[in-house]
Amino acid sequence: MFPYAPWRSLALRKFHNALGVAAATRPTSPVTLVRPHAAARAARFFTERFPGKCLYAVKANPSPDLLRTLWSSGVTHFDVASINEVRLVRAVLPEATLCFMHPVKSAEAVTEAYFEHGVRTFSLDCQEELDKIVAATSSSEGVAADDLWLCVRMRVSSEHSKLSLASKFGIRPEDSAPLLMAARQASDALGVCFHVGSQAMAPQAYVDAIRLVRKAIAEAAVTVDVVDVGGGFPSVYPGMEPTALQHYFDVIEREYEDMPISYSAELWCEPGRAFSAEYASVLVRVEQKKGEILYINDGAYGSLFDAAHVNWRFPTRLIRPEGGDAPEAEFSFFGPTCDDIDFMAGPFLLPEDVRAGDYIEIGMLGAYGAAMRTAFNGFGDSETVEVEDEPMASLYVDLTERPGTGDVVPIFGQN
Ligand SMILES: *Cc1c(COP(=O)(O)O)cnc(C)c1O
Repeated sequence: MFPYAPWRSLALRKFHNALGVAAATRPTSPVTLVRPHAAARAARFFTERFPGKCLYAVKANPSPDLLRTLWSSGVTHFDVASINEVRLVRAVLPEATLCFMHPVKSAEAVTEAYFEHGVRTFSLDCQEELDKIVAATSSSEGVAADDLWLCVRMRVSSEHSKLSLASKFGIRPEDSAPLLMAARQASDALGVCFHVGSQAMAPQAYVDAIRLVRKAIAEAAVTVDVVDVGGGFPSVYPGMEPTALQHYFDVIEREYEDMPISYSAELWCEPGRAFSAEYASVLVRVEQKKGEILYINDGAYGSLFDAAHVNWRFPTRLIRPEGGDAPEAEFSFFGPTCDDIDFMAGPFLLPEDVRAGDYIEIGMLGAYGAAMRTAFNGFGDSETVEVEDEPMASLYVDLTERPGTGDVVPIFGQN
C-alpha cells in the first residue's frame, strides 16, 4: 500500500494543471494531483508565524513526498499515532523528531518506538497508560528511562469544530491533578496536550481550552515544560471560510503567556489538515449522469470519505478542453462501488451541462482525502501526478497589497 511503502517514491510526472493531465492521459481511474508548492507555503507560514514549534500530524496525509516537502520547508517534528507511522517517518526522514501522540498504544509499539526509532515523546490520558509507557521503556534490568517527555492529554470541548475529537481521548482537566503529578515523577519533561476538534472555526476554541488546562496545572502545582495546543487549525472549504490563521496564533500566544509554566517551557502545535489540505486535489471522471446525480469514479471508499460520511463539501470545477459557459447547478455524486452509502450529497457546483465522459477536479483533498483510499469492490487504483497551478482555495496567499491588515484571507480559484 502506497502510504507505508516509502521505497516506492517514484518521480512524479509533472503537468501544469488538471486540464493538462486530462488532455494528455485521458485517465480512467481517479488521479491525485499534488502541489508541493502549496504544502511548502503552508509549512513556512506556520514555522514563521506560529509562536512555537510545529509538529505535522502524519495521519492527515502520510505521503512520503509530502513528508519530505514539509521537512525541507522547516518542519522537523512529526506527530505519529501508530507504529507504522513511526517506521514510515523514520525511514523517510532519519533525522526527524517523532512524537507518539496517540493516548492508547500497545506496549510493543512503545518499546519499538523508544528503543529502535529514538522516540522520546509519548502522550497518555490515564495511569494505566503511564505505567505501560514506563514499563515498555525500562531497560532489561528494569531501570526506568530518564529521558521521557510525557504529555498528558486533556479532554476539552469540540464545540467550535466541525469534527469532534472530544469523546474518545483525554482526562477531564478537573480530574487530572493525580495523573499530572505521577507523569511529572516519571518524566524528564512534562507536557500537557489537547485537541479542540478538527476544522476549528473560531480561535476561541483554543482560548477556552488553554484556560481549562491552565486551571488544571495550577491545581496540580506541577512544573510544565510543554503546552501542546494540538491540531484543529482550519482549512477553507465551500461554506467554511474561517478567519485568518494569524488570529488563531495571536490568541494562542496571548493565552500561553498567562500560563503558570517554567521559563524554558515550549509551546507546540500539531496541525494535520492545515498543512496538507491544499496539497492535493483529485481528478475524477463522470461515468453517468441521472438528473442531478453524477456517477463518478471515486467516492466514499476512495478519497471522498468525509464528503460521504460527514457531509463535507469540497470545491469542484469542470475540466473540459473546450470550456463551457452553461450556468452552474447543484449536483450530488455517487461513487463507483455498489453500496448505497457511497454517496456524496454535496451540493457540488458544476455547469449544468456536465455529462458522462467529462472530468471534474475536486479540490482541497490533501487532508483526510487520498490517505483514506481503500481497494473495496475492486476500485481504489489511483495515480499521482504533480501539478504547478494554485490550489482551488488557499489560506496562505499573502495579500501584501493590503498593507496594515496583516490578514491572509481565503481565496477560491476560478475555473
Ligand atoms: C488528528 C490529530 C491531529 C491533527 O488534527 P487536524 O485537525 O488535522 O489539525 C493532531 N493531533 C492529534 C493528537 C490528532 O489525533
